[in-house]
Amino acid sequence: MALDYPLPFLELTRELRRLPGIGPRSAERIALWLLSNEDARPSALAAALAAAPEAIHPCRQCGFFATGDLCEICSQPSRRGREICVVEQSTDILPLERTGTFGGVYHALGGRLAPLDHIGPGGLRIETLVERIRDEKPAEVILALSADVEGEATTNYLIEILRPLGVPLTRIAHGLPAGGGLEHADQITLQRALSGRRPAEEG
Ligand SMILES: [Zn+2]
Repeated sequence: MALDYPLPFLELTRELRRLPGIGPRSAERIALWLLSNEDARPSALAAALAAAPEAIHPCRQCGFFATGDLCEICSQPSRRGREICVVEQSTDILPLERTGTFGGVYHALGGRLAPLDHIGPGGLRIETLVERIRDEKPAEVILALSADVEGEATTNYLIEILRPLGVPLTRIAHGLPAGGGLEHADQITLQRALSGRRPAEEG
């Protein structure tokens, strides 16, 4: 048998390889760094890895990351009763928030309609969105989903579901990178997309 690293090392690299974007070479490099660099703090890293999922959960209302019942955005009284901006993922919220142009609240669907991956309306937080609109009576609902085929299909589905509620319904301007979602869009693109929003029509 060819010589290899000891078993605990191989177990460490196996776990590292499960992380997104980490291939076998990177996993080995990170493992070596953790074991041999004096700046490495493997125990602190392990403690943070264990603590974060315990402490952080989705906000009951919008789905953003929270340590309490509500996230920091939903906890601000000044934001209530204003616009609700609907996004696909909770990770889309911070990029929009950082544009500094939006003062309402958000609602993360937890994905989008993807028939090929067996994600239908029941797999998304659409019912809670309808409930929120009925309860909060927002000034406007802004659909801020990605501009590719699945994002577009989800937007159209939402328009159909939300229109009977009688709330002003808009969608962000086109121009977001197809397939990339909000996460990769730069700040100016996001600002323009938000300020250029228009009444939502079924397409
Ligand atoms: Zn929230």
